[in-house]
Amino acid sequence: MMRAWVMERFGPPDVLQLRDDVPIPDPGPGEVRVRVHAIAVARTKDVAMRAGNPPFAPRVSLPHTPGTEHAGIVDAVGTDVDPDRVGTRVAVSAVLSCGACAACVRGHEEACATFGLIGVDRAGSYGEYVVVPVGNVHAIPDGLSFTHAASLAANGGVARAQLDAGGVGPGTIVAVMGAAGALGSTAATLAKHRGATVFAVDQLGRKKDVLDALPFDAVFDGGDPDLAAQLRARTDGWGVDCVIDNLGLAPLWAGYRPAVATLGRIVVSGAIGRDPIPMELLPFYLHSQSLLGVRTGNIGQVRALWDDVRAGFRLADSAVVARPWTDMHEVHAMVEEGRSVGQTVAEVG
Ligand SMILES: [Zn+2]
Repeated sequence: MMRAWVMERFGPPDVLQLRDDVPIPDPGPGEVRVRVHAIAVARTKDVAMRAGNPPFAPRVSLPHTPGTEHAGIVDAVGTDVDPDRVGTRVAVSAVLSCGACAACVRGHEEACATFGLIGVDRAGSYGEYVVVPVGNVHAIPDGLSFTHAASLAANGGVARAQLDAGGVGPGTIVAVMGAAGALGSTAATLAKHRGATVFAVDQLGRKKDVLDALPFDAVFDGGDPDLAAQLRARTDGWGVDCVIDNLGLAPLWAGYRPAVATLGRIVVSGAIGRDPIPMELLPFYLHSQSLLGVRTGNIGQVRALWDDVRAGFRLADSAVVARPWTDMHEVHAMVEEGRSVGQTVAEVG
């Protein structure tokens, strides 16, 4: 038997119950069992799902153990998996794809016709052990903590996909909206690793100390009515080559839109705002600009992210906040109420 968080209904954080009588799962063909050390707590995939909200709650069968991206040690393997994998330190991505549909055969698993998630469509990582497909498991360097590995598994693949879409590399000027958040801080830090100039934009106040501790070239207040003028002033009037927007808020769009440079790209991976974005096509084509949506990273981008990590890419300590997994109720409340900064990771004791 093992300890695991189990929910029998949707509702507030205390629907999660830490039980000590959950059977340890056995890996089937093509699967491995992971001894879980660190769990990245996700706003939509586990907190909103636990509350009963779409898009993921309707797909969950109760009772359920949540938990998407995580890190740990391979503890057992299925019959057709190399037994040498036992003992490997790994990070686990959550996306489940079929490998056979029109999107998958094109290398775009993020658009799979049967796109699923560990922790939504099958039992997740809020337990001492979890069974996952071997293709979701990525070996991690010896010096990388499980806590940082779980955070990278949660945000690194999509951050990599955003920067690929936005053409972010040496010499590029990129502005990241929501830069104190889990995904924003990862994308901004990876952009620095790639040699870009990085502007961090967020609601300042309590987040300014966090942002000042991260390796960004300048920090801006997303609520400043002069945001575009300030961004332009820091680029000698050229503007920003790429905007990463994980929020999709109409007032913020209005704030940064005039600062997008000729040939600039706006990459969107979030739409928490309810108001439509005012969209004028004339400046888009006159300035050869692009608007790109990115759902998540594909398998190639996730593998490339772990290559980045092996080449030295690391998150700043201040962007990863660890809590004991026994505090899961408070962790969910913090994320739900917007009190968390960076990526919250639950450490399994
Ligand atoms: Zn597919």
